Amino acid sequence: MRNTKIICTLGPATESEAMLRAMVDAGANVFRLNMSHASHDWVRTIVPRIRKVAADLDAVVGILMDTQGPAIRTGDVTTKLQLKPGDIVEFTVRGEKSEEQYSVDVNYDGLVDDISVGDTVLVDNGVMHMEVLEKEANRVRCRVLTAGTLGSRRHINLPGVKVNLPPLTEKDLADLALGAEMQVDMVALSFCREPSDVDAIRKVLCEHGSNARVIAKIEDQMAVRNISGIIAKADIIMVARGDLGIECAMEDLPIIQRSIVKRCLKSGVPVIVATHLLESMIANPVPTRAEVTDVSNAVYEQADAIMLSGETSVGKYPVKCIETLHRVAYRTERSGGAGYANEAFYTENRQRTMHSAVVLANSLRNSKLVVFTRRGRVADYVSAQRPEHSPIFAFCNTPETCCKISLNWGIVPLLLPFEKDPEETIEAAVNLLRKKGHVHAGDNLVIVSDLQAGQSTFDSIQLRPVL
Ligand code: PEP
Repeated sequence: MRNTKIICTLGPATESEAMLRAMVDAGANVFRLNMSHASHDWVRTIVPRIRKVAADLDAVVGILMDTQGPAIRTGDVTTKLQLKPGDIVEFTVRGEKSEEQYSVDVNYDGLVDDISVGDTVLVDNGVMHMEVLEKEANRVRCRVLTAGTLGSRRHINLPGVKVNLPPLTEKDLADLALGAEMQVDMVALSFCREPSDVDAIRKVLCEHGSNARVIAKIEDQMAVRNISGIIAKADIIMVARGDLGIECAMEDLPIIQRSIVKRCLKSGVPVIVATHLLESMIANPVPTRAEVTDVSNAVYEQADAIMLSGETSVGKYPVKCIETLHRVAYRTERSGGAGYANEAFYTENRQRTMHSAVVLANSLRNSKLVVFTRRGRVADYVSAQRPEHSPIFAFCNTPETCCKISLNWGIVPLLLPFEKDPEETIEAAVNLLRKKGHVHAGDNLVIVSDLQAGQSTFDSIQLRPVL
């Protein structure tokens, strides 16, 4: 079994039922729908298709809707602008017309107010660098520093600039309503900048009757500064290295990644390492050695999940990418981990109970953790401790909870109705594990379950050998 979970972004290369099956068979745990590209019709088609494939294969597959967030983009250009160092480009807002040879409008009217002369503007995912020369009411004049071709709807990054866009745009609100309707399991908030942004998305989800898990994407300097508060509010954190590597100095990126993963593990909050893990495999069937090392590093840091973007949405080798992540993760996990969870601090007594269960499992040969979880909380607590060698079988009484914990490190989610008598539930669970070949005679089961005492229930830890 592999502990590190694999998230795959879906797109034109991977939308067919046959491909979804092949990806689940290869080890995909979560499918991501990127709302920067996905249409509502596509979401309405793909979600039931994923659910069908998961049901056919008796697999647990989570669905993650990733919002576009407050991204600044250029508008349409009739012909692509071929820019070279020294050229002047004007970015215009509010329908302003420019006299310059090179100009393009921008989707954010506040650009002129937020930006200052001397600031750097990065266009098209950091490919083109420009310097702000001057600004007027409805235009910003820039000098091109690095050559490039500017096509339509390109992403603009303003490193270090406090952008006054709201955390959720009109598009995000419409997308979240759809996500709630389609009962997606997790929702990612792009460009989360402060803890209150997490409250904002949770409020919207709640108004739509959704309790999807909220993933805060850390992708700019402000989010890095506010990381403690964001970790305290979010259900899951994503180190979104695509934008983060543009918004911050690139040499800082590995340090920021390690620091965020470490903080998440200390706080017991699941964490995803995303973007460019196998970028070269968009076009090639084998990864570069550097990519293998990068994946292995994220696995060694014991991130909960690693995420593929273009590799699976538009790439030529989506299944090979999953197989590659699986092989590298499986191998690295067997060589040890960074152990950041050993420095975890606990705020809840239930976390301390789960810690005792994990210590017990760590001390036994052939041990397997068995937990019962209604909302996923216990599964979170046990997974966060990063047991040394025991898989964690997490029994849930609803398919929704199974899917919500699908990206937690080391968790094998299993669906089981919970009986009134906890002992009956344990018996059914052990029978199911035996039937699926997950446990064998001689295994030591460390079981965390309810204990009924009069009118009250308590957590209990039991050690039961499999006979
Ligand atoms: C990223 O920037 O790394 C990321 C995951 O976000 P997106 O793909 O939405 O730009």
